[in-house]
Amino acid sequence: MSERVVVIGGGIVGASAAYHVARSGAAVTLVDRADLGQATAAGAGIIAPGTSLRPLPAFFPFAYAAVAAYPALLDHLSADGAGETGYRTVGALFVAADEVEAKRLSEAEALFTERRRAGAPNLGDVVRLDEAAARALFPPLAAPGGALHLPDAARVDGRLLRDALRRGAERHGATLLRGHGQPVLEGDRVTGVRVDGQMLAADALVIAGGAWSGDLGEALGVRLPVAPQRGQILHLDLPDEETADWPIVVGFVDHYLLTFPGGRVVAGATRETGSGFDPRITAGGVHQALGQALGLAPGLAGATLAEVRVGLRPASPDGLPILGRAPGLHNVYLATGHGPSGLQLGPFSGALAAGMALGASPPPNLDLAPFAPERFAAG
Ligand SMILES: Cc1cc2nc3c(=O)[nH]c(=O)nc-3n(C[C@H](O)[C@H](O)[C@H](O)COP(=O)(O)OP(=O)(O)OC[C@H]3O[C@@H](n4cnc5c(N)ncnc54)[C@H](O)[C@@H]3O)c2cc1C
Repeated sequence: MSERVVVIGGGIVGASAAYHVARSGAAVTLVDRADLGQATAAGAGIIAPGTSLRPLPAFFPFAYAAVAAYPALLDHLSADGAGETGYRTVGALFVAADEVEAKRLSEAEALFTERRRAGAPNLGDVVRLDEAAARALFPPLAAPGGALHLPDAARVDGRLLRDALRRGAERHGATLLRGHGQPVLEGDRVTGVRVDGQMLAADALVIAGGAWSGDLGEALGVRLPVAPQRGQILHLDLPDEETADWPIVVGFVDHYLLTFPGGRVVAGATRETGSGFDPRITAGGVHQALGQALGLAPGLAGATLAEVRVGLRPASPDGLPILGRAPGLHNVYLATGHGPSGLQLGPFSGALAAGMALGASPPPNLDLAPFAPERFAAG
């Protein structure tokens, strides 16, 4: 068992890795630079992978396992007194925005029913609603083609969950350090991490640097092709509404709505591939996100535009996470590349990376081969 673990990156993945190492009783230091554009700080928080239409097949069994692990994690954090996470089962409306989409709703219904039968969590019994019934659940909505109601979909507040994981880690003895972590390599092992002049000894290292992971890979001589994909996401306020239980709104398109208590409506998000490390709010991004939000829910036109958040999603070339031991290195474990799904997958990936750093084998029923870092080693 590794005695001293260092985790670089304090977003959802690294915070979870640190929490799980600390919970096991080993010594761990979490190093985070708190870059502007941290994806976790901007993430929407939809926890319902069974509603996604685009990912590769390998995504689903892993995502289902990740989401199924959420309740136990929340129980552990609660027992640790780690604070609120914003996790809540609020359900989802999968809407048809026009007549063409209305014709495809039966197809979507069959898909979700089949996924649920195959074990997809966070869907529940699919029920068809007309526009009035959908609007009774989410008043500003327009759903002229009707909607499917998926009662078990959940959402989480990424910032709160990240902070709860960090707090939980500290309660189990972890050290949290703010700074720039640079791995120190000797042969095929990392022996430590330099943090702004301070040297931390390490028996094992977890790389959870989000969109910035490529630089860490370079420092280690490991090809880690993770690119930033900017997402701009709006926070709107409806001061006279209690929105804590409103469902998530998704559909055939990428944009979505979800709510948090106190009239907060979150509308996202742009997917700006090729954005580089540029965490600015842009006129075009806000225009696009607002146009899509008001298209889905015209009743939001009078809401206050309270905040725009910007996050850099850590995108891998095939859209799947990169999870496992770094090729050619003995004691370095990679947990990155979670793209648009890191709030769903990240806590689980962090737990798995913690286990690897501590010398444990991953659960035998989980096929991690599609996520192996080796798939990119050859360039
Ligand atoms: C607009 C938007 C909406 C999203 N919505 C959802 C959603 O609904 N559901 C979902 O599942 N996912 C969603 N995501 C995706 C999710 O937020 C990300 O996949 C996830 O947060 C990535 O977490 P991470 O820990 O890998 O990276 P990050 O959260 O980006 O954290 C990486 C951290 O590493 C630090 N770091 C990097 N290099 C170093 C170094 N050398 N030394 C020290 N620190 C370093 C950075 O400063 C940063 O703090 C969304 C993302 C965005 C942007």
